Amino acid sequence: MEHNTTRYVQYMYSYPHKTAYRPLSGVHLQDYAHPLKGKGHSLYLHIPFCETKCGYCNLFSVTGQGEGEIEAYLKSVGRQGSQYQDILAPLGTEFSVFTIGGGTPLLLTERQLDQMFSMVRNYHSFCRRPEIILETAPNQTTREKLKVLKEAGVTRVSMGVQSFSDQELALLGRRHSAAAARASLKRLMSFDFPTVNVDFIYGIPGQTVSSLITSLQEALSYEPGEIFLYPLYVKHGARMEKMLAEGMVLDEWAALRQYQEAAGFLQAKGYRQDSMRRFVQTRKGAGEAEPTEGSRVGAADNSRHFQDCGFHTSLALGCGGRSYLGTLHFCTPYAITQSGCLEQIREYEATEDFTEIRHGILLSEEELRRRYVIRHLLIRPGLPLTAYQSQFGTKPQEDYPVIQDWISRGYVVDQDSFLSLSHEGMALSDYLGPQLISPWIRGRMEEWERMHQSPQMRGKSIL
Ligand code: SF4
Repeated sequence: MEHNTTRYVQYMYSYPHKTAYRPLSGVHLQDYAHPLKGKGHSLYLHIPFCETKCGYCNLFSVTGQGEGEIEAYLKSVGRQGSQYQDILAPLGTEFSVFTIGGGTPLLLTERQLDQMFSMVRNYHSFCRRPEIILETAPNQTTREKLKVLKEAGVTRVSMGVQSFSDQELALLGRRHSAAAARASLKRLMSFDFPTVNVDFIYGIPGQTVSSLITSLQEALSYEPGEIFLYPLYVKHGARMEKMLAEGMVLDEWAALRQYQEAAGFLQAKGYRQDSMRRFVQTRKGAGEAEPTEGSRVGAADNSRHFQDCGFHTSLALGCGGRSYLGTLHFCTPYAITQSGCLEQIREYEATEDFTEIRHGILLSEEELRRRYVIRHLLIRPGLPLTAYQSQFGTKPQEDYPVIQDWISRGYVVDQDSFLSLSHEGMALSDYLGPQLISPWIRGRMEEWERMHQSPQMRGKSIL
């Protein structure tokens, strides 16, 4: 890639992005629920409450809400679940993954957590041993709440530590201290959940390779199953946007060096790299962390959820979570500011008929094919050529010539009937992935940005 081109364009967490969604009319859940027939689906619950708003955050969450407001929200989630269940029961829908994200789900009291688990189990059917995933933050990870999670059968806890440097945490606007993160992580590990993953951020102004490695070294002393490395993005609506406007500089090349060193460090410690962000502890020793045929199929280990995260057939409960049902993707309108999110939550709570879908997108066959390519190519084991050909009747390189270009540049390798990102390609995921966005979706995203971005941030959505 050219030296002056940014590599931090966009995290392709899912496709298409929420900013491509628009108001819908005449769309009813019952007409689109058939992908949820039978077993093996995902259920997502969004808890849009946080203690304070982190400086870089543009996720759907609000602060300053007390027990009463959270109670009212959970009541609406119950009504939504009950209305959805009337549609799902005849389809025999059984969920095998239940994810509770946010926001900060552990802002709920122990009683509310209990109530939330029973309500969801009451309205929805699960397989015998579902994967139950929950995101948490250090300040909320108390012993009492972890006990509730253990009893509810939670299988994966994801903790946003971000750094073990107080200075870096302060710059990020995180509420917790490094000492609180240490104590929480120790507490969390003592509960012996099947998987714990810990998130870190790099590219923080003032951060160095050495401070990042020191944080990771400390994290590894707790032996978490997975580590996620996120580049610092400051997008529209985040508090740090103001700091950028006032002259704070995000150094992309410093971030890249940190990432390369950190990725090498984790691999040397026996963590297999499965995507630009995800590093999975292998049972093998250091230096043997390359994916094997077993990890390729990914069926028996805990990688399945994250391979599909944002791409699986999934139904969302709550305000701000997205549902993916074949050609229909939907969600409440995208909001970032406190007032915008609060307005959406109030509207959500006032909704009488949750089965009428009022905001989202209907995807063509062509968009579904792009989604398939993005879903597979950016994550190990990669894009399965035989499966692609039998589903679409063509080769991905013919449909998307840019892939051929990536092969010739060494970003993508054709290996054992998979197209996989090379080491270099993986580091470029946030640059390569966005090139697969269709002109139609790109046009919608740009239209949203024109309508919502501040003049200082226009064209400056980066790192
Ligand atoms: S980054 Fe997470 S914890 Fe921080 S404000 Fe956003 S949702 Fe809340």
